[in-house]
Amino acid sequence: MATSTQFKAMAALHPKEKLQLWEYEPTPLGDRDLELKITHNGLCHTDIHMRDDDWGVSQFPLVAGHEVVGIVTDVGSQVTSFKKGDRVGFGWIRDSCRVCYHCLQGEENICRQGYTGLIVGNHGGFANRMRACADFAYKIPDALDSASAAPLLCAGITVYTPLRTYIKYPAMKVGIVGIGGLGHLAIKFARAMGAQVTAFSSSSDKETEAYEFGAHHFHRWGTSETLEEVKGSLDLLICTSSAELDWDLTFSLLGNNGVLCFLGIPVSSINIPLIPLIFGQKSVVGSVVGGRRFMQEMLDFAALNQIKPMIETMPLSQVNEAMNKVIANQARYRIVLVSENK
Ligand code: NAP
Ligand code: ZN
Repeated sequence: MATSTQFKAMAALHPKEKLQLWEYEPTPLGDRDLELKITHNGLCHTDIHMRDDDWGVSQFPLVAGHEVVGIVTDVGSQVTSFKKGDRVGFGWIRDSCRVCYHCLQGEENICRQGYTGLIVGNHGGFANRMRACADFAYKIPDALDSASAAPLLCAGITVYTPLRTYIKYPAMKVGIVGIGGLGHLAIKFARAMGAQVTAFSSSSDKETEAYEFGAHHFHRWGTSETLEEVKGSLDLLICTSSAELDWDLTFSLLGNNGVLCFLGIPVSSINIPLIPLIFGQKSVVGSVVGGRRFMQEMLDFAALNQIKPMIETMPLSQVNEAMNKVIANQARYRIVLVSENK
């Protein structure tokens, strides 16, 4: 039976407002739902976009948090895959239609009917408890501690999906723009997949760590003439930056057949020059998180290769300070919020 207590969350009551302690009555535990005692949440830049309603889809009060790890405290009557005491995680996707062509391929992230977001119209992980459908919960491999596993559930899957899709052969030249939560994990995954990895950062103090994460090359974005030597060479360039960039420069780094993949959403549109696009057979693509198939694969791959984010932990009560740190580009490299509530 579901417990019918109030859940304690850190919520934004209105757009752009600081998060504050807020209690809510959860929806009844559905037959296919899990209830979690939340222990950890990675703080994704998207949580900040959602707080500020940057994309016009936020609903308030907003309980953000979509890199959620916790312990199962209750299961619906139809749940067979998990039991009380299991350590599980939830990511950006709460549910999908399950029957369209893409869902059947494990690509619920591009469900034809549109997936349901964990924190879009629903309450997410910045809380002591959460309820959500067990079908979109993932068992955390024993080799990953909970704090390290949390950022994999959004940042990890978001970079894993395009790397897994577009890396076609060993030593392929892969560039990563923006070495934040997503970007530093992209370096680690790309290196583990055998790519030749080039990190591009606007922060000069990230160079040493970029090499430690596995980058073969590092270039300072924006100011460096050394970008000239990279021009026309990259097979895949993944853009995680949450700031607007020089798109002509970005595009010019691609070699023929190269793929420019957008993950960050700093602007709503860009201009692409058609002549080099066509005559160099280049592609410009986007990618959004990942479906259940790649999520499980990514967790297994991370556990096997000991791919963990570099994190700093803060109590959930300090989520506003943590958000300010991310906005100031001072997080190294993912802040993980620890839920204090019992
Ligand atoms: P993050 O940790 O804040 O990292 C973003 C990086 O962008 C920074 O570390 C920084 O790297 C670079 N940057 C350059 N100028 C910046 C500026 N003025 N302000 C902030 N960052 C700046 O963010 P994240 O959590 O990795 O997310 C990155 C973007 O991806 C966000 O827009 C987020 O909403 C989006 N996202 C998309 C998906 C998807 O499915 N497509 C999933 C999750 C997140 P350097 O210091 O190296 O330049
Ligand atoms: Zn995210």
